[in-house]
Amino acid sequence: MTEAAIDEENKKIAKQYKELLRISYRNLSKEDKILIRQAFDVAVDAHKDQRRKSGEAYIFHPIAVAKIVASEIGLDATSIAAALLHDVVEDTEYTLVDIEQMFGETVARIVDGLTKISSLKKDKDISLQAENFRKMLLTLNDDVRVIIIKIADRLHNMQTMDSMRPDKQVKIASETLYIYAPLAHRIGLYNIKTELEDLGLKYTEPEVYKDILEKITESKEEQDEYIKRFSDRIKEGLDREGLNYDIKGRPKSIFSIRRKMVKQNITFDEVYDKFAIRIIYKSDLENEKFIAWKIYTVVTDYYRPNPIRLRDWISQPKSTGYEALHITVIGPDSKWVEVQIRSERMHEIAEKGYAAHYKYKNTEEKQDQGLDGWLNRLQEALENSEANAVDFVEEFKLNLYAKEIFVFTPEGDLKSLPKGATALDFGFSVHTEVGLKTRGTRVNGKLVPLSHELKNGDQVEIITSSKAKPSSNWLDYATTARARSKIKSALRDEKKQIAEDGKVILKRKLRSQKITMSEKVVNELVLYFKLKTSLDLFYRVGIGTIDNQKIKDFATTRSNVFMNFIKNRIRRGNIKDVDKEEITSKFDLLVFGKDSEKLEYKLSNCCNPIPGDDVFGFITVNEGIKVHKNDCPNALQLQSNYAYRIIPAKWIDSSQEEFKAVIKLNGIDNIGVVNEVTQIISNNMHLAIYNMQFDTNDGVFTGKITVGVKNKNTLKTVIKNLAKINGIDKVFRE
Ligand code: MN
Repeated sequence: MTEAAIDEENKKIAKQYKELLRISYRNLSKEDKILIRQAFDVAVDAHKDQRRKSGEAYIFHPIAVAKIVASEIGLDATSIAAALLHDVVEDTEYTLVDIEQMFGETVARIVDGLTKISSLKKDKDISLQAENFRKMLLTLNDDVRVIIIKIADRLHNMQTMDSMRPDKQVKIASETLYIYAPLAHRIGLYNIKTELEDLGLKYTEPEVYKDILEKITESKEEQDEYIKRFSDRIKEGLDREGLNYDIKGRPKSIFSIRRKMVKQNITFDEVYDKFAIRIIYKSDLENEKFIAWKIYTVVTDYYRPNPIRLRDWISQPKSTGYEALHITVIGPDSKWVEVQIRSERMHEIAEKGYAAHYKYKNTEEKQDQGLDGWLNRLQEALENSEANAVDFVEEFKLNLYAKEIFVFTPEGDLKSLPKGATALDFGFSVHTEVGLKTRGTRVNGKLVPLSHELKNGDQVEIITSSKAKPSSNWLDYATTARARSKIKSALRDEKKQIAEDGKVILKRKLRSQKITMSEKVVNELVLYFKLKTSLDLFYRVGIGTIDNQKIKDFATTRSNVFMNFIKNRIRRGNIKDVDKEEITSKFDLLVFGKDSEKLEYKLSNCCNPIPGDDVFGFITVNEGIKVHKNDCPNALQLQSNYAYRIIPAKWIDSSQEEFKAVIKLNGIDNIGVVNEVTQIISNNMHLAIYNMQFDTNDGVFTGKITVGVKNKNTLKTVIKNLAKINGIDKVFRE
């Protein structure tokens, strides 16, 4: 570079720096400015020999990130300094200790969090990516500002991706759509989320993006004209009320238009809500709500509203803190138009999210609970470190985008839950202990199943019992990440408990076969029973699926050729190749729907699912149910166009499947016998009773009970135990 060019560049850097201070959303004190200046100087020095792919000096990147942080998001001076320094430790000679000495603990901690996140991402693997995501969320424990700065960093990288290799562009763009956009949404950074999504689409589906962009540009004039026509009519009424307001058109993002086109299988022209009207009004805090409804009245005097599309986020803000009144009316030319009514304060919160919350914290305490409450729940879910990372992220992501509903506790407290949440989810949202002990639920005073989907305004009461405990079915009823992770860990604990008992039993049973239990023997058994881990083995012994006879069989075959073969394999150390086939063979039964029914089906040829795959059933016209993998190339299309023909399906381990058995019994009619029967079945043996019928006739009774059991052994034990009850004559299986 020539000296003149260097000079030119330095001028540009200085200009950017000045602008950074100028556009800060917060008022910067003298100390703030000193801190930012110091961070700037260090960043300039640290990155002095670095250039970006585009050729420009690296320092432009941290400054740009700091500008997003300062202006668009509106964070404090500490965050601005941390943003300037965000790549220093990762890319340059400076260490974290240096940063801490110069800038103190807070800045150092944020920079540390940011460094940890970026040093994670050298991967191709989705599960690794998910793991990274989880680690990234873990930094939320330290400081939510880490994630926010990270989002700003990602936004700037997305804005300046043109000089990158196309394959890298696609990778970064998909990661952005997968993780960063949902996070930005959840934190309430709606504008940034929209920009991330649009940029994501631009690089993942460039043709589609360009096409929609062109069409938007073409229809712009027509749209502006429409918005003007719409506004001119209501202005008259609004002015008459002496309101101070501003009306704007708010275009739908390219990404949202695209999503709607795909989801509803419609063309660009058929998307009716390509823009909304936004009315932003001035008001003091006291009259804010009142004025919003006044504007509502004026608007609906001119245009007829659709009553089912009224959203009052003022009386009950979203948990992201969003407040506004949304209505949909029939505008000029009989077109549906959404109108968003917000005060300037509400608008600021919608635009700035976190930072604006902070600003209004003292006046609107309840809003902060939204984000804080979410962060707390998130932290709790994260602490459940055993969950597989991909599962975790998938479930977590669902919760990021979920629409919210509001329900009431019996005491009249309001709780927010993601749309689609069930009665069981509610239990877990009250408290983990409540969730785990849920026996039944009452919605608006009526008993409902745990799977009952809650609606806005429902009043929900949980009936708990100290005897209740989660079963694997609960995973079909729970939709929130929190409930699911709690249920899974409870099930794991239970399995472990049973496995521990099973281990003791196994040791004894082996001894009676003259075999001493050792790691080697356990490995042999795991292979012999085609299991995955020793835990699976002990568990099956514990529940009785692997009984005496099976262990005897093992003992006798142990000496034969097959076992020698297996032993050799173990010795050669390649147990791992005993492969997927054998492991998946445990998921041997495909069941459909919420009730896990066994139905006729065919596996589809387009994706050839195998046992263990995540699948769904599709009801075809001529060929019954066809089963596809969830990631089948046709899946998205089938699910979006024929949602009503989709039936959920899953592979289960038939040896663990519960079946219903009918037990008949008779005896002398004495008081308390029914009580004792249920005591044994549900309290002592923890089995489900599906149906129970008792008839008495002249002092003699007959009973019929339908119970759920996992295997014949358990059934035998129930029958044996029931037979011991005083007064019972006969017990048998029907
Ligand atoms: Mn960066």
